[in-house]
Amino acid sequence: MKKKFYVTTAIDYPNAEPHIGHAYQKIIADVLARWHKLIGDDVWFLTGTDEHGKKIQETAEKAGKSPKEFVDEVSKKFKEAWKSLDIKYDRFIRTTDKDHEKLVQEVIKKCYDNGDIYKGEYEGCYCVGCEGYITEKDLVNGECPFHPGKKVQVLKEESYFFKLSKYQKFLLDLYKKNPDFILPPERRNEIINRVKEGLKDLSISRTSFNWGIPFPLDKKHITYVWFDALFNYVSGAGEKQKYWPANLHLLGKDNSWFHCVYWPAFLKSAGYKLPETVFVHGFLTFNGQKISKSLGNAISPKILAEKYGADTIRYFVCRQFPFGDGEDGDFSEKALIDRHNNELADKLGNLVSRVAALAEKYGIEKTENKLLKKLKLKQIEKHFEKYEFDKVLNEIFAFIDICNEYVQNKKPWETHDKKVLYELVESIREIAKLLLPFIPSSAEKIAKQFKNDKIKKGEILFRKIEK
Ligand SMILES: [Zn+2]
Repeated sequence: MKKKFYVTTAIDYPNAEPHIGHAYQKIIADVLARWHKLIGDDVWFLTGTDEHGKKIQETAEKAGKSPKEFVDEVSKKFKEAWKSLDIKYDRFIRTTDKDHEKLVQEVIKKCYDNGDIYKGEYEGCYCVGCEGYITEKDLVNGECPFHPGKKVQVLKEESYFFKLSKYQKFLLDLYKKNPDFILPPERRNEIINRVKEGLKDLSISRTSFNWGIPFPLDKKHITYVWFDALFNYVSGAGEKQKYWPANLHLLGKDNSWFHCVYWPAFLKSAGYKLPETVFVHGFLTFNGQKISKSLGNAISPKILAEKYGADTIRYFVCRQFPFGDGEDGDFSEKALIDRHNNELADKLGNLVSRVAALAEKYGIEKTENKLLKKLKLKQIEKHFEKYEFDKVLNEIFAFIDICNEYVQNKKPWETHDKKVLYELVESIREIAKLLLPFIPSSAEKIAKQFKNDKIKKGEILFRKIEK
């Protein structure tokens, strides 16, 4: 039977349009999904939008629209953005989808039947930006660390609570027994330390606004947006949820507490299996600046894709900075142009066009391929397993350098050596396969050009970008 690989991204909050920061994680998920397809796994890739909550209701009101009209428009823009970057998900889930709403209501009943939900009263500092209460010690100058400048509100309301406190031991055991549950390790240690300090029960229903899933235990209440949103990973797990549990949840560092603590507790309470890994990554900056609305269109994935091409953007964000170290990476347009020109156009593009032209002219003849043996395939697989996409590309491009030197040294334009050209053609076929997850459109073009042994010169793959 095929091995299953189920990867999810965070579902984005469509209170504003998609930007390159949102795109980063989706590109990584798409690269992983394509890689797992390549190695023969049964892959399911889920992304979507998180459409309920107070902030959406308020933003829609300001725009003079109903919340539903508003999220219909914005979620469409997210879909368009992912299309422009060649991101091929299996489902785009919206938390306003009927099957999701139904599942959330069933789950709440299950948790209630398990004795984990009770009625109480909640008072606390609430950040509309996070759609969540913040404990006082997390406030920075009285403001949310992720939404500086936004006043936190003191809210008091009747609420249903989830007995999170009951799950402290369960969670600590989980982190201990499954060191890969939270990656990278630095994030795991932060979470463990905080969980050890103790867990407070969590308010999971609201009465102060109404844009949400009706709380099945009480008509006056709607479901807390995080309880609603997290379960998208289950309701979106394919037909009859057959891909659940997820192998990998990708998320930004602002969401780690929700995914590492609430999520496994909710799942355990409702009787679901737990995901394998929650992977927390850093954010992107843009030309050295924090991504914010003031950057306007510059950070739109669609506009960037029109400017540079989907493949170049995908290649750049995977190649330029490590994914796994939790640090922020800078989307520098200057660095992107350099990599496009030096690596995609000069190294890869040149190799492909030279070899195609020579093979067309002199033909190829099968032989033992000594050149291809220099490709470090095992190393590449290992880097993929550890989410080291920059190192994967490093290895592939080291081999491209070797191939370019081989052309230079063997001079097939003088020797007309069909065997040398065979070695190069086979090597390019392998390179195209390995690059498919990163630069799907260009890799497909190369694969098609080199598909059979009657190779023909093709169009230029990467035109240089003027600085
Ligand atoms: Zn906040």
